Amino acid sequence: MTEQERITAETCEVTSHFEEVCNRIDNICHRMNIEEGITEKFKNCKRELTVNFPVRMDDGTVKIFTGYRIEHNTDRGPGKGGIRYHPDVNLDETKALAAWMTLKCAVVNLPFGGAKGAVVCNPKTLSQSELERLTRRYASEISIIIGPESDIPAPDVGTNPQIMAWIMDTYSMNKGYSVLGVVTGKPLEIGGSKGRFEATGRGCAICSQLAAKHLGLNLEKATIAIQGFGNVGGTTASVLSGYGSRIIAISDSSGGVYNIKGLDIKGLLRHKKETGSVIDFKDSDNITNNELFQLECDILLPAALEGAICARNASSIKAKMIVEGANGPTTAEADKILGERRIFIIPDILANAGGVVVSYFEWVQGTQCFFWREDEVNNRLQEIMDNAFHEVLEISQREQVTMRNAAYILAIDRLARAVQIRGIFP
Ligand code: NAD
Repeated sequence: MTEQERITAETCEVTSHFEEVCNRIDNICHRMNIEEGITEKFKNCKRELTVNFPVRMDDGTVKIFTGYRIEHNTDRGPGKGGIRYHPDVNLDETKALAAWMTLKCAVVNLPFGGAKGAVVCNPKTLSQSELERLTRRYASEISIIIGPESDIPAPDVGTNPQIMAWIMDTYSMNKGYSVLGVVTGKPLEIGGSKGRFEATGRGCAICSQLAAKHLGLNLEKATIAIQGFGNVGGTTASVLSGYGSRIIAISDSSGGVYNIKGLDIKGLLRHKKETGSVIDFKDSDNITNNELFQLECDILLPAALEGAICARNASSIKAKMIVEGANGPTTAEADKILGERRIFIIPDILANAGGVVVSYFEWVQGTQCFFWREDEVNNRLQEIMDNAFHEVLEISQREQVTMRNAAYILAIDRLARAVQIRGIFP
């Protein structure tokens, strides 16, 4: 089986991620007696920009790439959301990711709406100079809607601080002055925030800690399996292993590794850097992504792509708790199965919100040109995650709903209030 065939065999089928988000928004709005027209507003994206643009490749040929920038909602502030570079990304997925950003920013009460961008490409096959030309041209194409007061991108799957630096520079060159606030997740040298790179993983670890306390689980002795070993999976693994938890399995797009006694995370990070994947790591057995989801463990952390947990594998999950590091890792069908099995899920729009929280801090620091110490950043992140977790938990207990539905109730309540107070223009 080729790598692509194996990944396809292990990936769940979802017809439309955006339809799944809209169905949930619809159900929650109905439950909350939100006016039908306002519900429809939340089920539609405010702006959808598709761009097809040429890039000169290193061999002299010109290739056309397709990219998107979607602003789902700006009722509570400028659009905010990452940019994904991936060969399979499409308009529907980008719209779903933008909608989740709106909900996420509302759950943690940031003055932002939701947006997302993407370019259909495989960054692993592009040279550094091709990646730079592609990024600068894409940034130019979407510069008609992005800006520090309108829509602020950040990194996501396949993008990184260097790519954010090129976007900031391209936008600034066209303006004629440096605009720090146009993008977050930048390198520290050009207005990045301390703690931003680790923020999403740190937020996942904070949520795991709070949920473990709520469930009476000793996190210091907990066993953890993580799908995805990039920014989110890698940092969460490092922080949780620092708490004393045993990370027994980790996977990436090539497969996974398992050791019941716990993996050496620092060593695995080095191994991934040197070899390009986690497989064949010393003192561990190779496993498939499928096998990782079926492991006996306390916490399962999907931190790769959407739809990793679906009807096909939800019944065989043995974890006590799922912490959604990725956006949309659980399909609606799987969510129902896990709900019936009473597995405690910290939903994506809460669990992985640490990234956007520190992106907000970076935007605030950049617009004020006043930068904070790392402990200030981390303490403020802890406070926001702590508040949001307890607000969601309180709704979940009061309304007798899952943590996911509780998070949607909290977010939609804040969004609906913003619309009501602002009114419908004109
Ligand atoms: P990344 O590109 O740094 O890492 C992605 C990881 O997933 C890689 O290790 C990759 O090999 C692995 N992967 C990809 N396809 C896989 C498959 N089919 N099976 C197993 N592993 C696979 O990306 P990231 O920034 O860590 O993002 C991961 C998830 O977290 C995404 O859903 C993203 O939207 C979400 N997220 C990221 C941030 C952030 O700040 N980076 C914030 C919030 C949410």
